Amino acid sequence: MCGIVGYLGKKQASQVLLHGLERLEYRGYDSSGVAVVDEAGDIQVRKKEGRVAALRQEIQENPAQGQIGISHTRWATHGEPSDTNAHPHLDRSGKLALVHNGVIENYLQLRDRLAQDGHEFRSETDTEVLAHLIGTFYDGSDEADGQLRLVGAVREALAQVVGTYGIGVIHEDIPDFMVGARLGSPLVVGVGKTEKFLASDVGAIVSHTQEAIYLSDREIVLLKPDEISIETLEGDLADYEVSTVDFTPEQAEKGNFPHYMLKEIHEQPVSIENAFRGRLADSQASAVLGGLNLTPRELRDVDRIVLCGCGTALHAAMVGEYMIESLARIPVEVEVASEFRYRNPPLDKNTVVFVISQSGETIDTLAALREGQRKGHRVLGLVNSVGSTIARESDGGSYLHSGPEIGVAATKSFTSQVTVLALLALLLGRMRHLSVDYGQKMLAEIRELPKKVEQIINQSEAIRRIAVKYNEAPAMLFLGRQFNYATALEGALKMKEISYIFASGHASAELKHGVIALVSEEVPSVFIMPKDSVYEKNVSTLEEVKARKGPTIAITTEGNSELERIADEVIYIPECHETLNPILSVVPLQLLSYHFAVERGCDVDKPRNLAKSVTVE
Ligand code: GLU
Repeated sequence: MCGIVGYLGKKQASQVLLHGLERLEYRGYDSSGVAVVDEAGDIQVRKKEGRVAALRQEIQENPAQGQIGISHTRWATHGEPSDTNAHPHLDRSGKLALVHNGVIENYLQLRDRLAQDGHEFRSETDTEVLAHLIGTFYDGSDEADGQLRLVGAVREALAQVVGTYGIGVIHEDIPDFMVGARLGSPLVVGVGKTEKFLASDVGAIVSHTQEAIYLSDREIVLLKPDEISIETLEGDLADYEVSTVDFTPEQAEKGNFPHYMLKEIHEQPVSIENAFRGRLADSQASAVLGGLNLTPRELRDVDRIVLCGCGTALHAAMVGEYMIESLARIPVEVEVASEFRYRNPPLDKNTVVFVISQSGETIDTLAALREGQRKGHRVLGLVNSVGSTIARESDGGSYLHSGPEIGVAATKSFTSQVTVLALLALLLGRMRHLSVDYGQKMLAEIRELPKKVEQIINQSEAIRRIAVKYNEAPAMLFLGRQFNYATALEGALKMKEISYIFASGHASAELKHGVIALVSEEVPSVFIMPKDSVYEKNVSTLEEVKARKGPTIAITTEGNSELERIADEVIYIPECHETLNPILSVVPLQLLSYHFAVERGCDVDKPRNLAKSVTVE
C-alpha cells in the first residue's frame, strides 16, 4: 500500500515522478504529491487529494522544475484523504521533505513531545511527525557535512520510531542528495548511470532502468545521481546486489484492454502455463519444485503443513489444503496470516510453513514468515514478485511467474497459486502413495488447463449478459463444496471488492444453518457445482434456494444440460480432474464480478478504500 517514487538525475524530476506514480497508483489512490528542489534551491511541493491525474493537472498549471524530487501516492491510515494530509510532508523549517509508507505507531507520544517544543503540525498524519523529528535532529546537529548531517538525523529519528516505514527524504540545502530507509515496507533503488531512482516497486522505474537493488529491513540508502551507498541503521556499510528486473515495461501496460483486471483475466492461459512450465516431471509422473530447497528425505519427513495467506491468497491456501490432504494425506492447516502471527499455535518439529503472497510484501504474511522462522521452522514462499521481501527472507519456495499483476482485485495470481499448490500436492503425493498412473493423469490434466481456461474466457459475453440482468441485486450468495468451497469464498470476495455488492461465500450445505434466511427474489445465489462427487448434494441445495424464490446461477460441467431445467442461468466449464477444478471454476466468477462492476459504473482497477500490496498491518 502506498507508493513512493524518488528521482535524482538530469531529467525534469516531476515528469519522471508523475509517470512513476501512475505505475504505482494501484498501491493507493487517496491523494498524491511531489516535492522537488527547484533551480533556485527551494523545495516546491504540489499535492492533491484524489488520483494522480489531479496532481498531473496541478503540476501542468503550476510547474515545479528541478532535477531531484520525491513523490507519493497515498492509502490513508492516519487522517482522511485530503490535500493537507497528502504526502510529501515538511519539517518545521520547510526545507526538509519526507514521503512515507507505513505506520508510525508511537506518533502521538512523539507529536506531544514535539508540540511541547513549539512544533506546529499542519496535517493529521503520523508521517508529518517523522518529518519534524528528522528536521529537529538535522537542525540540532553540528556536523559540517550536509549529507552526513541528514543521514545522521534520519538515523537518530528512526531510532525513536515504533512502527513500519519505507521513506524518502530530501533537504533543500543538499540538492543532489536523497536518503531512503526501510523497515517493514518495501523500497527498491533503480540504478542508472547518471541517475538514480527510489521506489516502492520496480514497476515505477522499469521504463527507465532494468537494474534494481532491493533494500532489506533496517537499511539506509544514500543516493546521489552517480553514487549509491547502503548502510545499516547502526551505521555499518551493507553489501548489496544489483538484480535485473524480470519483466518489461510493456508487460506492465494495459494494452488494448479497458482495465488491468480484464487483461489479467485474459492472461491466465499463459500465466497458468508459466506456473507449471519446467515443473512437470513425466519420467517420474510427478512435479519438480527445485526452489523448495528440500531433499527428498526432508520432503518425506514433512508430517504437517501450514499454509498462510491473506485475502485471495488465503483462498488459494484453502484449495491447497484440500489438494494436499487428498493427494498426499499430509495434515494441512490454513492460517489467516495476521492471526497466525499473534495466536501462538503449536507447531510440531516436522511442520513446514508456506506463506503465499502475490506481491511478496504483504506485511501480515511477512510477519507470519518471521514468526514461523523464529520458532525454528522452515518457511517457504509462494510469491509472484521476484526480489520481494518474502522471496528474499523465506528458506526457499516457488515463484508464480505470472508477470506483473496490477489490477487491485487479484485474478491471475490466484490461478497460478493454485496451480503451484497442485504441483506441490502431486509431488508430495507421489512420494507417498500415489501411483504412477495417477501421477501421469494429473500431469496430463495440468497440461490441459490453459486451453480450458481459454474456452471459459471466450464466454465472457454470455457472462456479461447475466451481469446485466442481475445488476440491481442488493446482495449475492456464492456456494460451493469441497474443492470449490474456497472458490465460493473467492467469488464473493471479487464481487465485494469491485462491485460493492454485499456478497458472502459458503460451503453449500451450510446454507440451511443460517444463511438461507437471506434468500429472496432479489438475492441471486451463484452455485459452483461441476459434475463431481458432490454434484447431487449441490443440486439439492439449489432446489432449496429455488423453493424460496431465490434466483440461481449455476457453474457446471459442459454437457450437463439438466441444470438448464432447474437453474435460472447456467455457465459451462470444461470437464477436469476434481482436484484442479477451482482453477477453471474461478474464471467465470472473475468475469462475473468484472462485468457487474463495469455495469454498475465502478472503477474496476481502483476499487474504493482498497489498494494492492498491503504493506500496513
Ligand atoms: N501512515 C501514512 C499516512 O496515513 C502512510 C500510509 C501508507 O503507507 O499508505 O499518510
